[in-house]
Amino acid sequence: MNTKYIFVTGGVVSSLGKGIISASIGNLLQARGFKVTIQKFDPYINIDPGTLNPYEHGECYVTADGMETDLDLGHYERFTDIRTTRRNSITTGRIYQAVIEKERRGDYLGRTIQVVPHITDEIKLRIKENARHEHFDFVISEIGGTIGDIESAPFMEAIRQLRWEMGRDAVSIHLTYVPYLHAAGEFKTKPTQHSVKELQGMGIQPDILILRTEHHLEEGILRKVASFCNVDLECVVQSEDLPSIYEVPVNMQRQGLDAAILRKTGEPVGETPPMTSWHAFLDKLHGAAGEVDIALVGKYDLQDAYKSIRESLSLAAIYHNVKARLHFVSSEEITRQNVAGKLCAMAGIVVCPGFGSRGTEGKIIAAEYARTHNQPAFGICLGMQMMVVEFARHVLGFGDANSSEMDAATKHNVIDMMEEQKSVRQMGGTMRLGAYDCMLEAGSRTHEAYGGATKISERHRHRYEFNNSYLKAFEAAGMKCVGTNPETGLVEIVEIPALKWYIGTQFHPEYCSTVLHPHPLFMSFVKACLSD
Ligand code: GLN
Repeated sequence: MNTKYIFVTGGVVSSLGKGIISASIGNLLQARGFKVTIQKFDPYINIDPGTLNPYEHGECYVTADGMETDLDLGHYERFTDIRTTRRNSITTGRIYQAVIEKERRGDYLGRTIQVVPHITDEIKLRIKENARHEHFDFVISEIGGTIGDIESAPFMEAIRQLRWEMGRDAVSIHLTYVPYLHAAGEFKTKPTQHSVKELQGMGIQPDILILRTEHHLEEGILRKVASFCNVDLECVVQSEDLPSIYEVPVNMQRQGLDAAILRKTGEPVGETPPMTSWHAFLDKLHGAAGEVDIALVGKYDLQDAYKSIRESLSLAAIYHNVKARLHFVSSEEITRQNVAGKLCAMAGIVVCPGFGSRGTEGKIIAAEYARTHNQPAFGICLGMQMMVVEFARHVLGFGDANSSEMDAATKHNVIDMMEEQKSVRQMGGTMRLGAYDCMLEAGSRTHEAYGGATKISERHRHRYEFNNSYLKAFEAAGMKCVGTNPETGLVEIVEIPALKWYIGTQFHPEYCSTVLHPHPLFMSFVKACLSD
């Protein structure tokens, strides 16, 4: 079968959940036995979101091959178990960078470089790039932003051309919004009509429309949209607000979204797959009774900033038949006086990742509280580093211990910059990024959590590391290194075996937790939170 290309665009407003829809489409096509990949095109000029503040962009998701990407790739992986790569995340910045490099090399032989055809050709190349490396039945391309944005125009032009070239091998899906006006007591389809007109004005006729809505839409509304927008009625589906994003795939399947895609591409529709394991997960989700309260100690009071950690905790809780109640606790506001008030009612504490010194003292106080009150605690990346600093200050007695990121002059730099990082001048893409192997210490709690595996691989995103010259002192005092990088000897995991569950990982386990395969460390942590 030829590779089929699905383009997902959004109209009317942003934040409609194009990422969830794209991930759901991937999931449904996989359930039919197709090999699928999902990629994101972001119209901003940054080369990648690695240098963006989480307030701008939410979490930065890292692929196994070390690309810092949009958090939508996290949805793709969680919904499908696909392992994305640097080819799955492209920005306008990367497109221009590639074109300008070609121009400097002389590849264009004296021509004037223009948005059309040079930028659009580069976009087309990137859309097809994944399928050049590996066979895919379906390549889903989600285009960031909203129709009408100046930035997304070259992407729309590239899609228009590809649809013309590919014929039935290309499908255009447009996600819009149907608001309900309380004063009028009516749903309004006009914004959708305008959005589709705008798309048509760029030469793209959508094949399928997905209407985001807060309440159920009657068939009359769908009919109206179909006839105004030149779309078959069976190709207009609604995506109403649901209690959980994980219900979206089955809701889409019920309305025949996957069947509509197959019909459009000329593929036989066949039986509707039962999605047995997905339904089994949803049954668990619906059956989850009871709650587990977990504190997220971090500095960004924004849901999206710790997206993958939140999802990983929620998924692990569901597998333990409870719902995770996540409480954001601002590390900037934690003091020795108020820490008990903020954390004592929590079943567990996650000390979150981050950069820079703001809020780190609060993370240290939270780590100390968890350690001295034997509360389950999970430190991730900077969170692990702050656990280490706390231990050095209060157990080893190095009062000024710190990470050299926070205090370059400290005598006790228990977390320090790696030698090879010291000469790095550029910020973007220069951290220790992507998956690295890690050997686990037999008999440790971590080893047990990973089901007895001795070698694991997890994804990183940091510049600083545990300073091995202190390793002996830490181990003698009870904080053990239970995970080590086999090539460099870098400490990847610390654990205090004497406590109930006190583990810090230099890597980010949250990037690898998926709906059908929740991460073992999150499973083990939530289990500890639930045990007395
Ligand atoms: N700021 C720390 C470092 O660069 C931790 C990074 C993180 O938490 N992702 O090492």
